Amino acid sequence: MAAEIRLVPCLSDNYAVILRDPASGAVILIDAPEAAPIERALDAEKWKLTHILVTHHHGDHVQGIPALKQKYRPTVIGPKEAANGGMLDQTVGDRDTVKVGSLEARVLETPGHTAGHIIYIFEREKLLFAGDTLFAIGCGRAIERPAAVLWNSLLKFRDLAGDTKMYCGHEYTLANARFAVTVDPKNAALKARLAAVEKLRAANKPTLPSTMAEERATNPFLRADDPAIAEAVGMKGADAAAVFTEIRERKNSFRG
Ligand SMILES: [Zn+2]
Repeated sequence: MAAEIRLVPCLSDNYAVILRDPASGAVILIDAPEAAPIERALDAEKWKLTHILVTHHHGDHVQGIPALKQKYRPTVIGPKEAANGGMLDQTVGDRDTVKVGSLEARVLETPGHTAGHIIYIFEREKLLFAGDTLFAIGCGRAIERPAAVLWNSLLKFRDLAGDTKMYCGHEYTLANARFAVTVDPKNAALKARLAAVEKLRAANKPTLPSTMAEERATNPFLRADDPAIAEAVGMKGADAAAVFTEIRERKNSFRG
């Protein structure tokens, strides 16, 4: 039986994801921006939370943990950087495997947005939980590590199967798409995706999950080594990390 998934909007633009393993009844939450909407989603299904997987230490990904811990006593797993305050029961790092019931996630370290950010890849279910490293048509800000380090981290996503479903920490897709067309103006797949995203958001619907095939085709932050993007930003022949740094900086000041 396939894992069951619920996408839970939290705060103003965050997402938490709940994943249930029908074989064992285990219920996994990926990131905890806010307890109340997560509790409502669990209660609606009569699911009991057994595990929380954390991607990084930012408050809008962990601040729901204390209340959820008190109510459900889940096992909380995450990167070392989120261990302050005793919220984690177990820390994991690069190439570790997390096993919950019949589900198994591969952990990869993707520094950049934070120094110790991790992502979870459920290979068999073809699910990716990217936190704030990769966004739909975008990526997180390089806050704790230079943009070149974030670029190296993003390269780790490019090998994932095209039909991998990608979940990320925020609903930033429309703003990301509007920016993306400014640095990849000749990309027809991107233009089509922008139109689709505009429609979804106008109907107040989530744009997640996307697929890794869509991201590879339309996300400029996965395509900084594409000569068309280098040319569009006036950096023909520059190396990919430099192009990536330029487009990350342009995005920081983009008001579209
Ligand atoms: Zn963050």
